[in-house]
Amino acid sequence: MMSLRLPSIDGLLRHAACVPLLARHGRESLLASLRQLLDELRPAVLSGQLSAVEISPEVLAGRVGERLAQQQRSNVRRVFNLTGTVLHTNLGRALLPDEAIEAVQMAARYPLNLEFDLASGKRGDRDDLIEGLIRELTGAEAVTVVNNNAAAVLLTLNSLGARKEGIISRGELIEIGGAFRIPDIMARAGVRLHEVGTTNRTHARDYEAAISPRSGLIMRVHASNYAIEGFTARVPTAELAELAHRHALPLLEDLGSGSLLDLTRWGLPAEPTVRQALLDGADIVTFSGDKLLGGPQAGLIVGRKELIAKIKKNPLKRALRVDKLTLVALEAVLGLYRDPDRLAERLPSLRLLTRPQADIFAQASRLQPALADLMGEGWQVRAVEALGMIGSGSQPVARLPSAALCLRPQVSKRLRGRCLLNLEAALRALPIPVLGRIDDDALWLDLRQLDDEPAWLAQLPQLQVDP
Ligand SMILES: *Cc1c(COP(=O)(O)O)cnc(C)c1O
Repeated sequence: MMSLRLPSIDGLLRHAACVPLLARHGRESLLASLRQLLDELRPAVLSGQLSAVEISPEVLAGRVGERLAQQQRSNVRRVFNLTGTVLHTNLGRALLPDEAIEAVQMAARYPLNLEFDLASGKRGDRDDLIEGLIRELTGAEAVTVVNNNAAAVLLTLNSLGARKEGIISRGELIEIGGAFRIPDIMARAGVRLHEVGTTNRTHARDYEAAISPRSGLIMRVHASNYAIEGFTARVPTAELAELAHRHALPLLEDLGSGSLLDLTRWGLPAEPTVRQALLDGADIVTFSGDKLLGGPQAGLIVGRKELIAKIKKNPLKRALRVDKLTLVALEAVLGLYRDPDRLAERLPSLRLLTRPQADIFAQASRLQPALADLMGEGWQVRAVEALGMIGSGSQPVARLPSAALCLRPQVSKRLRGRCLLNLEAALRALPIPVLGRIDDDALWLDLRQLDDEPAWLAQLPQLQVDP
């Protein structure tokens, strides 16, 4: 029997089937892929396990084409966030409004006056690009922006409290996801932790008793991801500020999410505003750009002018500063806050957070028949009311009334878990992965954030659930 021979690399490169691949991926990538494939096939060819068709240039080109396309696909994928958590840290938190997206494109494409004062022709400061807006929207005297709120807290503590004591209530020594713990951050910032009070109750006299010549600052942290209820006591910010100032100490308030406007006007749970914290007497307030603010990832440090100036002089500021894309997006988002009446239409995070439950329920009812059809006998598919969350540590106990498609496997209890995990994996394998949540023996697709319904429906027939 005559054994088959693999085509030569040179022959393949010139073959009509490879010409489009050469144009699309370039000679180097194509060559490397072809070599790899031929090396893999050689043993099977030598032992006569492959047919002539299987090693024809057309088939080989097809296989190499698939591999190259796979390699070229970005690791970053758009997903459908149907988890019910709106500001989902693992899914990129806030979505930007068109105004910010346009600003990012402009800043990416052209040189800009990032640190250049066009009036004087002299060097400028990137924080100046948003200082006017921050003053107007929060009442703060000055602002500086860093990469995220964790960086804002670190930089502020280090700038104002290094080698001194930071006084903080035991009820506020929190851990936020991703190994951000207040005691650790304080230590890294060179501030000695002086904890006062107890987990559930801290009084003004506890702070007062802790103040000594070693004190550098008093800190207050918004307990963003948990709630203490029952027999509790907390000193109001105004009273704590008065106490701090009587002893010439600055009061820092880490608001976490921090809101620029009172969210109750949109029927959302009350969240402390930056303006109120400053009015109450906090000297510095820190908060995130991509939580309730609805902008890009950033950490905003706002407050008294001389303290901000001190923070900006810290060499760490240079290491933590934001890039131009973030800054222009932030400016565009802040600009929308000047017109609160239209904010809920224009800012995606607020639009999603305020979407009425009736609206979401109607959408779930509309989509239910198509999904029920697709899932067949083995699954019960219902449109139901559900409870979602704001996410990112805002209002950990508050729930957003929402609606979902609830998929329940019609199998014995023993098999349910596996069925649900298989469905979850199949949804993740779709061209635009769909992320839901498993709860109470069912898979829930919370539709609050499903605004691209046609794209979602169009890919559903590709869903392949293992039986
Ligand atoms: C979320 C949060 C942080 C961290 O903010 P990032 O912007 O995620 O770095 C810090 N403090 C509090 C109270 C928070 O809620």
